[in-house]
Amino acid sequence: MEREEIERLQKKKLKAAVKRAEKIPFLRERLREKRIEVSELSDAAKLPFTIKKDLVNAFPYGALAVPLQRVVRIHTSSGSTNKPVTTFYTKKDLEIWSELMARGLACAGARRGDVFQNTTSQGFFTGGLGLIQGAEKLGLTVVPLGSANPEKQLEVMADFGVTVFHAIPSFALRMIEMLEASNGFRDSLKIRIGILGAEPWTKEMRTKIEGALGIGAFNNYGLAEVGGPGVAIECPFKSGLHVWEDRFLIEVVDPNTGEPLEEEEEGELVITPLDREAMPILRYRTGDLTRIIDGKCECGRTHRRIEWMRGRIDDMVKIRGIGVYPSTVEKIIASHPESNGNFQILLSGVDDITVKLEVNSSVISNQAAVERLRTSIFEEIKDATLLRSNVEICPPGSIPRSEGKAKRVVDLRRL
Ligand code: ZN
Repeated sequence: MEREEIERLQKKKLKAAVKRAEKIPFLRERLREKRIEVSELSDAAKLPFTIKKDLVNAFPYGALAVPLQRVVRIHTSSGSTNKPVTTFYTKKDLEIWSELMARGLACAGARRGDVFQNTTSQGFFTGGLGLIQGAEKLGLTVVPLGSANPEKQLEVMADFGVTVFHAIPSFALRMIEMLEASNGFRDSLKIRIGILGAEPWTKEMRTKIEGALGIGAFNNYGLAEVGGPGVAIECPFKSGLHVWEDRFLIEVVDPNTGEPLEEEEEGELVITPLDREAMPILRYRTGDLTRIIDGKCECGRTHRRIEWMRGRIDDMVKIRGIGVYPSTVEKIIASHPESNGNFQILLSGVDDITVKLEVNSSVISNQAAVERLRTSIFEEIKDATLLRSNVEICPPGSIPRSEGKAKRVVDLRRL
């Protein structure tokens, strides 16, 4: 579709989405207060936001816009601290989600004949069943192993000749460690594409993962609140993530004021799902920092792209009055070939920062190399953040691994 056609479709769908949103009590109230008529697409900016707290407060069924008997599936977000956010699907919602995931897998280069393995949990987490449905829709051969340790994952990949897999980026790092420990095992694998997401990561980490696993890795984006993964993904040109704009309206706003920003300016991504029946929320504030990339992609797709996310607003930590994103530290560490990608930022004392990073086993015994690396990481962090940090170079395997998403920041400060 050409741009005008996409926008015409979005406008038509947005009007219908607002009507459906009136069925959600907290949105009905806000819509009545504001009395907005959507006649142009830009009127979207006048509609009320939905924020995470709305959905947490609505737990379990308060954000449902259809009778429960029409709901065929319930998922939740990970909900690490609070109650999780529930997300609902009618039969049609589920079909559309499968189609979006199939589209994303195809966009990354998966084709019929590929054997697909999911390495994540396949329960409430949207990244499990969502990917599986999409892979089946596309006609891939699915190996639904689900969560298991890296040894088991790699064994099954070898057994079934898996070519495409889905994982969170920190799990891909664990696969790399396993491969390094088992000399030559990579030769028994056919993996060529990794679909990675559901956790903040950086392009520098991608380069490391692609090199060490010998695959193409693709950043896959979405969130449970707007229906799960399947919102945006990279194409083989890897110049941003294509957003499926026929099904989602995206805006970038100032994270402090909520006001719309200029085209291509960086801010908070706001997503309105345009087709959802069971949970038609409006203008969901994702907390993710990115910008819209205008203009056509070399692949020919007309869906606009968003820049690789700089991080989540919530992930920023304040150290001695300076705001630091863990992604800034990750970029620096991952760009050094000596590191194996695992790191942790430890905040302690009054306001002390220690950056621990692991190196490959071939590096740790070389004192001179370790000292060189320590100095250059210290300098690069100071240049990027103005902070003087303690840099500790650690042997592989010394930073604790978490079962789910990696814990990059440990804050033990007495503030
Ligand atoms: Zn493209």
